[in-house]
Amino acid sequence: MRRKLAAGNWKMNGLSAQLDQLDALTAAHPDPAVDLMICPPATLVGAAAAQVGNKPLMIGGQDCHPAASGAHTGDVSAEMLVDAGAKAVILGHSERREDHGESDELIRQKARAAHEAGLITVICVGESLEQREASNTLDIIGGQLAASIPDNSTGANLVVAYEPIWAIGTGKIPTLDQIGEVHDFIRARLERRFGAGVGRSTRLLYGGSVKPGNAAEIFAVSNVDGALVGGASLKAADFTGIIAAL
Ligand code: 13P
Repeated sequence: MRRKLAAGNWKMNGLSAQLDQLDALTAAHPDPAVDLMICPPATLVGAAAAQVGNKPLMIGGQDCHPAASGAHTGDVSAEMLVDAGAKAVILGHSERREDHGESDELIRQKARAAHEAGLITVICVGESLEQREASNTLDIIGGQLAASIPDNSTGANLVVAYEPIWAIGTGKIPTLDQIGEVHDFIRARLERRFGAGVGRSTRLLYGGSVKPGNAAEIFAVSNVDGALVGGASLKAADFTGIIAAL
């Protein structure tokens, strides 16, 4: 059985005081029945991991470089994230694909390096509104899956997040049938490429305007194993409402 996962992506939000939310989260969930993850900005990863200590809340990064070290000003490697206490890293978020022109190929290299360093990767895929309206959603997602997921993926180190770009930060979500169609498709593609073992044990998250009020209906959809949450992960009270629905 796949263990459910509630992952928070703080994006470029949070100064030191934001770390108080981690205490609130761990206090509210001392022994959670699901896996919990928060991915703060890189500046807070070390402090967040130190603050959480052995409590059941994984800290993750939001990006990493494919190389372990070197002349790459401004970048952070997977090894550095591990050294800072991270257990995971989000890769291929649509905001990075757009803001930094990240290709599937680059994301695959980053993910391969992250797996080698011992990190769980949360690899994001998703279509634009234009692509959905042109009925290209499954083609786009299929291409992203094939090209951005590395061969060294396992059910333990890979998480795939389906994040329709038009649902991020907009308050809009796809219909439950649309979410189910994409998640079933992702599961089938993973099983076809990696076999039933990896394909069935990889967790699939939905992301895009997940709130305490809509989480339960989304989590009831087949092959939805949790959520990747942006805005509603910034406040422990909101995130707790989502965790409670899992
Ligand atoms: P929101 O939950 O703010 O829509 O963001 C989703 C997201 O992009 C998580 O990675």
